[in-house]
Amino acid sequence: MKFPEIRRGELTTLQVNIGYKCNQACVHCHVNASPIRTEMMSNETLLLILKVLKKYKIKTLDITGGAPEMHPGFKGLVIKAREIGVEVIDRCNLTILTEKGYEEMAEFLANNKVTVTASLPCYEKNNVDLQRGRGVYERSIEGLIKLNKLGYGIPDSDNGKVLNLVYNPLGASLPPEQIELEKSYRIALYEKYKITFNNLFTITNMPIQRFKMQLKRSNELEEYQKLLYDSYNSENIKSVMCRSLISVDWEGNIFDCDFNQQLGIKVKGNYKKLVDLINNQVNLSGNVIQVGSHCYGCTAGCGSSCGGALKS
Ligand code: SF4
Ligand code: SF4
Repeated sequence: MKFPEIRRGELTTLQVNIGYKCNQACVHCHVNASPIRTEMMSNETLLLILKVLKKYKIKTLDITGGAPEMHPGFKGLVIKAREIGVEVIDRCNLTILTEKGYEEMAEFLANNKVTVTASLPCYEKNNVDLQRGRGVYERSIEGLIKLNKLGYGIPDSDNGKVLNLVYNPLGASLPPEQIELEKSYRIALYEKYKITFNNLFTITNMPIQRFKMQLKRSNELEEYQKLLYDSYNSENIKSVMCRSLISVDWEGNIFDCDFNQQLGIKVKGNYKKLVDLINNQVNLSGNVIQVGSHCYGCTAGCGSSCGGALKS
């Protein structure tokens, strides 16, 4: 079955990858980020992001990496985006909040009411350390406690300090039901550490980059791709994330989503870079999205996006 044709609806989110440097090197990382990566968005491109947000009245700036906080221009970008009324999401790995030289980062995020969307692939130590490296669990818990102390993650609060946790399976399986898993996370994290958070997002692992290599090594790639394909749920097609966002890489190139970005699949149409959106008035709604076999990762089962399951 060929993946159905989809078109973008209303553009609400600009997702930008500002660099591949990260203080971690997780096995499932679909951008192959690590401490030795040097790719970083230039200051000129950071300025273009702000111009595009303004010109196209985009509501949300979703900043990712690597560890985006490691970019020297991260704070400036956040401050200026907030000044023009844009909601900012920081895709945070939690360990950066206790990394030497970044101890003030949690406070900065709180002061600017940045939504923190943080990876925590399990509420149990062994599973987290297996996927993300030894010692990551303890440091993630430390990061969460720090955020809670600053007012993040208080359920039903409207203080603007939203803390979302992100779960992804350890191996070649689909995530469990988001609502049920969220309940388990709440109980486990509260009972043990008194940690609270706002939402849990379940995300399906994409069989690309580092995770694809891992699947190849364990001879599970074909089986996993078949699982995604066989679990296709047509309801999810209405809300796949590429329908409301565009993704920008560290060099200012535009893609339909972060996965297409990692696969080097450029957008259709005559706007290829951020600067094209400034030099021309582009109608970003209604554009045909570049799809491929990897897209079944977004539509399998309950669906998957940067904001978690597509149907609960
Ligand atoms: S923390 Fe995130 S960006 Fe960094 S290596 Fe792990 S998955 Fe990749
Ligand atoms: S992989 Fe990207 S292009 Fe394909 S459905 Fe998912 S978000 Fe859309």
